[in-house]
Amino acid sequence: MSTHRYGFATKAIRAGEQPDFREGASGDVVVPIHLSTTFARKELETPTGGYDYTRSLNPTRKALETKLAAIEDAGYGLAFASGLAAETSVLLALLKSGDHIIAFDDLYGGTKRIFDQIINAYGITASYVDAADSENIARAIQPSTRMVWIESPTNPLLKTCDIRAVAAVTRHNGLILVVDNTFLSPYFQHPLELGADVSLHSATKYIGGHSDVLGGAVMLNRQDYYERVQFIQNSAGAVLSPFDSYLAIRGIKTLAVRMEQHQKNALAVALFLEDHPKVRRVIYPGLESYPQHALFKSQASGFGAVLSFELQGAVADAKYFLERLEVFSIAESLGGVESLIELPSVMTHASVEEATRHKTGITDTLIRVSVGLEDINDLIADLKQALE
Ligand SMILES: *Cc1c(COP(=O)(O)O)cnc(C)c1O
Repeated sequence: MSTHRYGFATKAIRAGEQPDFREGASGDVVVPIHLSTTFARKELETPTGGYDYTRSLNPTRKALETKLAAIEDAGYGLAFASGLAAETSVLLALLKSGDHIIAFDDLYGGTKRIFDQIINAYGITASYVDAADSENIARAIQPSTRMVWIESPTNPLLKTCDIRAVAAVTRHNGLILVVDNTFLSPYFQHPLELGADVSLHSATKYIGGHSDVLGGAVMLNRQDYYERVQFIQNSAGAVLSPFDSYLAIRGIKTLAVRMEQHQKNALAVALFLEDHPKVRRVIYPGLESYPQHALFKSQASGFGAVLSFELQGAVADAKYFLERLEVFSIAESLGGVESLIELPSVMTHASVEEATRHKTGITDTLIRVSVGLEDINDLIADLKQALE
């Protein structure tokens, strides 16, 4: 099915899953979970349907990869065992020893750890700039620079990067632009259309959407990049399992309705918090008070459902507040149907040095929320009782 002419929800539900009407087939409307690790052939030299071994190609994973490409209007999609497995595979595929990466200084911690503690041992270096200003990227280019790696929005400060402006810099200088699109999901933002070469997701978050599958996704348009990443997917082997591929497929089918409701709930929570006297400030791209609101709207069709806010008082007050919540769960991660809340200074960003944390704005009482799909009245009532 060529899917370009269909709307998002149609692609999310239909792409990659055509009922099989051939002789002996059963016409399943849902792609089966093909657990077989190997595939038999009738004739020695002809793999049946192109399948020979599941690491190389599996029918359930292939259905997911077709769906992933369709929902981001990409030429190709690839599925990995986790977001970080997807990232490592992209780096192995597109870079070599001696290459240099320019990265946003407000990146997901696990990505920084790959740059600073894994690929550095293979002679690939990374330097960090505030990519919210694309001039900073242009200034950081060295003769060995090959790649620029950004997120928009970032975590937990939700800074916006002007993806079109950064893409102009990377295109002009022949660099590869990678955008980690996890926070907005394919429903709200299409980095490839804004000029990126690789769009990457932790499928563990909104794509899976139910906090029950760990996975990673890579979308690309250039065939040569696709072939190299696919070669690493098979040769390094960090593939998504058939069962997890099925869970991701199941998640994607409701991505459109989930993201709409996530966003509605997030805006209501943000407006409630913004009005509360015990809250110093709220950072949510959907608020008029968000400094890069217009830029954000120019490149994304929605604002997502992650927000941060700073409580009046000290770290003990923040802990007291979090532990009083009954509906929200204190947990890392985001993007699931459950509302999750965390204290970056003590949890996700505890390993960042205190001075650096404070300088970048991750104060002791900055709280990050992944707003879920519970009844909005219950979410607000819960925040209210815990604040009081
Ligand atoms: C969670 C996350 C990752 C890592 O993904 P895993 O599936 O946990 O490996 C990468 N980037 C962002 C923005 C994330 O939120």
